Amino acid sequence: MMIDSHCHLYDLKNYILPDDIYPVVVGYSYSSNKKAVDIAKGKYPFVLGIAPQSAIKHGTEKLEEWVDFIRENKPCAIGEIGLDYKWAETMDNVNAEKKVFSRMIELADELKVPLVIHSRNNPNDNDLPKNAVEDILEMIGKRKALMHFYSGSAELAKKIVDNGGYISIIHLHSKERRKVINTIPLERLLVESDSPFVGRTPEVIREAIDYISEVKQISREEVARKTAKNAMEFFGFEV
Ligand SMILES: [Zn+2]
Repeated sequence: MMIDSHCHLYDLKNYILPDDIYPVVVGYSYSSNKKAVDIAKGKYPFVLGIAPQSAIKHGTEKLEEWVDFIRENKPCAIGEIGLDYKWAETMDNVNAEKKVFSRMIELADELKVPLVIHSRNNPNDNDLPKNAVEDILEMIGKRKALMHFYSGSAELAKKIVDNGGYISIIHLHSKERRKVINTIPLERLLVESDSPFVGRTPEVIREAIDYISEVKQISREEVARKTAKNAMEFFGFEV
């Protein structure tokens, strides 16, 4: 059994999950949170939250309504939430992201659940803040967090893990991701597809498992078993 720690199953049309893959279903906006609950409640673990992209797109006026929906449905973590400095075009965007993120952190504290974090640094040549991962670390403090689709540096990944956090690995290869896989012990790694937005389906976690196996020189079976165990520990469910 392998666990896809991050997928948007409700956006996969007519898809049938293979027997050996178990999904964690994640929302990112009010409407996708509703879809996640519809498809996963009573069946799979699910994570609800308002992502920074939603904060930019929909503003913060309805924030309390979104919070109420999440609270009522008792997710196993709050996510995906965080800061996306790639999509922020103005300082108002950055401030909206921060407002939503800090409200989501408060909600996680209230519900006593961990955080699933979306982070993207600013690659553009402008005066807006650059390092989203650093700002996130400052805002979450010592809280337990999973960095989803992590694309930051190995140094910051190590800091997150030293704080009790976990890093989720996607199938896409990069020099920095290889360094992250090398630096972080298998006990703190998970795998994810982020399907259908990044991987087409949850099946791409097989490639993420191969990637870790190749970099760490640990058998595929061991990587599959350990990353599943880590996911169950982080989210607090059992298959
Ligand atoms: Zn996602």
